[in-house]
Amino acid sequence: MKPITKARMAIQFCLGMVLVSIAAAQEISPSPTPTPTPALYSPQTLSELKQLQQAALKSDYAYRQVAHLSNNIGPRLTGSAQAQKAVDYVAAELKALGLEVQLEKLMVPHWVRGEETAALVEFPGMAENTTQKIVLCALGSSVATPAEGLTAEVVVVRDFDELEALGKDKVAGKIVLFNYHFDKQMAAQSRAGDAYSQAVKYRSDGATAAGRLGAVASLIRSVGGAEFRLPHTGQNDYKPDAPKIPAGAVTAEDADLIAALVLQGTVRMHLVLTPQTLPDAPSFNVIGDLKGAEHPEQVIIVSGHLDSWDLGTGAIDDGAGVAVSMEAANLIQKLHLRPKRTIRVIAWMNEENGLAGGKTYANDHEKEIANHFAAMETDGGAGHPLGINYATKPEAKTFFEPIARILQSSGASILNLAEHPGADISPLTKLGVPGFSPIQDNRYYFNYHHTAADTLDKIVPQELAENAAVVTVTAYALANLEKPFPR
Ligand SMILES: [Zn+2]
Repeated sequence: MKPITKARMAIQFCLGMVLVSIAAAQEISPSPTPTPTPALYSPQTLSELKQLQQAALKSDYAYRQVAHLSNNIGPRLTGSAQAQKAVDYVAAELKALGLEVQLEKLMVPHWVRGEETAALVEFPGMAENTTQKIVLCALGSSVATPAEGLTAEVVVVRDFDELEALGKDKVAGKIVLFNYHFDKQMAAQSRAGDAYSQAVKYRSDGATAAGRLGAVASLIRSVGGAEFRLPHTGQNDYKPDAPKIPAGAVTAEDADLIAALVLQGTVRMHLVLTPQTLPDAPSFNVIGDLKGAEHPEQVIIVSGHLDSWDLGTGAIDDGAGVAVSMEAANLIQKLHLRPKRTIRVIAWMNEENGLAGGKTYANDHEKEIANHFAAMETDGGAGHPLGINYATKPEAKTFFEPIARILQSSGASILNLAEHPGADISPLTKLGVPGFSPIQDNRYYFNYHHTAADTLDKIVPQELAENAAVVTVTAYALANLEKPFPR
């Protein structure tokens, strides 16, 4: 497993899901003949797992949670009043379920979106005294243009190589547009995570590369799989030694428009982006423990991230992940079951633009890492789950076969050895904690990801319940496993 570089971490922002090919994963689904595994789970545990699965498929608790987070609280960008409201809400809900709840403090970046408008003010064939509106948004961490905006010629490149080939002479003083296409075919083949990682490096590193060559602003083609003229936001990651220039994302349609006009002659754009970076602010991870009856000190984390981007209402990214994690605790309590190990529900803060929640938790709990039995994260939307990603030793697969047989009835029996089960739990998995996530159908996830259309209607209640079943069954199985994992 190759070490997670900083660039890799940037790619992981908002891609808690693993970069997984479902086509490849299907080859390793469990064998149809049950193998005797009495040493792994007791007959009572197996019976309780079936009860939990059936209860999860019938419950609307997770849907009500994500509905509250997205409709009643709304966008939850790190540092915002809504993010704090969401912290208080989830803490109260977990307390109501009977969990021991802690708010663990951390410091978070506080970036606030401002005005964001653009227009082409010179282009071949334009009617006199007209402009063409360009639909765009600022990227997270972007610095501002002057309040009245800036006007400059646009140069279009496909990738970093084309930018370097242009060199300083042709880039200095210009607005650079990276017109790198998200690979829709790849996404249609259930490899959306791979398509995302290819394209997202222009979002994270484009402004740094363009700034180093003297550009006055950097724009990308939105990283997403559908053309509804929606800009997709996400984090930009300035390197410390590069000049900071404004960074934005235009819609796929506007990228095509600009690229076509630039081939015909000079294109100049007026660009206004007025975001602000305020001082770092205190915030919290919400942590709720359902104490284990036999090994309370051993912990299974079940998690999603509570913060979201601000354009939509953070339903699929990642209200859904928080909601299914809360559902695991709800169902175990409702069925009056008692796990042997502690199930710890965590709603992480700041996955989208800093990962402060995951990093702070790993630091604060460093001495207890050996007691972190496993960590799960759900951060790939709410699409139908196909099985479980496991990021631990390959021999752990046999531990999951009995679980996969239970999940087979809701179509989630694939077991996939994965590298990165989730961004927030990555500081823990790097320390050797076995990591898990549901494998989710992500073919349409990037159509809405980080856009104004990440809203509750994108969640199919039954599919959310199927995800809750995978998360709940996996968490309870891990909590009652008769022996530890290979790690
Ligand atoms: Zn996310």
